[in-house]
Amino acid sequence: MDFPRGATFCCPECDRAGLKVHDTEEKTWRHLDFFQHQAYLTARVARVVCPEHKVRLVAVPWAGPRSGFTLLFEALVMAMVREMPVATLAGLIGESDMRVWRVVHHYVDKAVDAQDLSGVQRVGLDETSSRRGHDYVTVFADLDQRRGVFVVEGRDHETVSAFSLFLDTHGGSSDQVKEVSQDMSEAFLKGTLAHLPNAEITFDRYHVKSHLSKAVDEVRREEAKHHKDLLRNTRYMWLKRPKNLTDRQRDLLDELLTQPLETVRAYTLAQQFDSFYELDDPDTAEEYLRRWIVEVDASGLEPLKRFARMLEDHWLGVIRWHHSKVSNGLLEGLNSLIQAAKRRARGYRSNRNFIAMTYLIVGKLNAGPVIA
Ligand SMILES: [Zn+2]
Repeated sequence: MDFPRGATFCCPECDRAGLKVHDTEEKTWRHLDFFQHQAYLTARVARVVCPEHKVRLVAVPWAGPRSGFTLLFEALVMAMVREMPVATLAGLIGESDMRVWRVVHHYVDKAVDAQDLSGVQRVGLDETSSRRGHDYVTVFADLDQRRGVFVVEGRDHETVSAFSLFLDTHGGSSDQVKEVSQDMSEAFLKGTLAHLPNAEITFDRYHVKSHLSKAVDEVRREEAKHHKDLLRNTRYMWLKRPKNLTDRQRDLLDELLTQPLETVRAYTLAQQFDSFYELDDPDTAEEYLRRWIVEVDASGLEPLKRFARMLEDHWLGVIRWHHSKVSNGLLEGLNSLIQAAKRRARGYRSNRNFIAMTYLIVGKLNAGPVIA
């Protein structure tokens, strides 16, 4: 491809038109395959001298700056990367991972930055480990739009500070956030209180419940030391909802429930705790929870008593669920998407790759070139 003699061009920076050609550079871009063959476009690209920006390579309509791919090829990459791991995609198109990641980052960064967060009022946040528990990222989701809007390294209070700044610089406002669903960690609590000043905090029921499940399991493990015959290999039976057990497991559970075991008492109390979330009236539910705690204290089961103290220390945020009805149930759904993001980014060398993939999948971003 070439341009006619005497053609003039615009400055790529300021769009100043009518600039004469200074010299040319030959450039090549990979384009969509031609049948089974790789296809390349080669063109002399003009350089112009802008009075303000000096010597510049002009922009071409079929490719962005520097990627070495045409826009249509990049669009194909962005479509495929939603469907398969980057490493697989790179192998399939015969390009390096690095080049594919460069395209992904370019369009994801752009789409992340272009988000309009003006409607964000109810937020769920949760941490997820990026690489075998070594590194963590925190995902912030708009609970109304049901999508992740901000992903950041770490799981400390600074992540909330970064989110509030991100909101304020992307059309939203940290003052406008009214409800936040999160776990009971000190770090997130500190962050939300400081950086989302108008938010009511609800402690996510699934996180609350997981603390209780851990307490039940502690009782079981302690008791199993003396009742190996009865309690061996029963861990999941006590943790799963009865309706999710196999018939055999349920029969075994029914059998165990007749035994005079501490684990049975802990399990029964844990089942009763669930009713707190099922009651309709907030005052009745709060009263129910107080009576439940009295029973727990009378049970003498130490791990459950510790759980009860945790509830009391986080009382308002636990009760708040009955008013806000927000939970990370949605985020748990997002969590399976995050796991998918992890698989897509398999072999990712950096958190940055993992974060980009999380944005792409969990953020439901429309990331890719605009094809005229
Ligand atoms: Zn210029």
